[in-house]
Amino acid sequence: MRVGVLAVQGNFREHAAMLRRLGADVREVRLPEELEGLDGLVIPGGESTAIARLMRLYGLEDAIREFRAPVLGTCAGMILLDREHLGLVDVEVDRNAYGRQLASFEADLDVGEGEPLRGVFIRAPRVRAHGDGVEVLAEHDGAPVLLRQGRFLVASFHPELTDDTRVHERFLELIRKESSVRA
Ligand code: GLN
Repeated sequence: MRVGVLAVQGNFREHAAMLRRLGADVREVRLPEELEGLDGLVIPGGESTAIARLMRLYGLEDAIREFRAPVLGTCAGMILLDREHLGLVDVEVDRNAYGRQLASFEADLDVGEGEPLRGVFIRAPRVRAHGDGVEVLAEHDGAPVLLRQGRFLVASFHPELTDDTRVHERFLELIRKESSVRA
């Protein structure tokens, strides 16, 4: 399975390491042509304004809009996929919206099965609204923090910063399903 990680800014190395651990063939993506032949793409956390600027500069915005395989967006990556940015995921988020003292924190998230998932939130976006086509997979403090819309999986926290690989496994599972549908 060939998975790209958008590598213009932010936590792309951590995502790449985790995906490699799970057996994926990982490619760093900085140019539109590097999206060709990928089975999935991760848009990592970092600074959404910086990532957005670099994406525009490299012509990646249209290329990502035209990309047809599953996409995982975490933290800043979720912001970039939202209604206001790429418009690919039907969510509306408030940036840095968990309050001052709570700018960064960890929380146990109930993901419906097995042990709770440890969520690392770093100046995280808070989901204010989402469309009917969006499925909420986990919540924290009254707001969704892990969501899925078709081939898109988004998290307001950083699954690449713990040893728990379940979010990435779920993403690879989504890729497996989607590629059998497309085949
Ligand atoms: N606060 C960042 C932003 O608004 C997101 C933080 C993160 O990705 N850890 O872009």
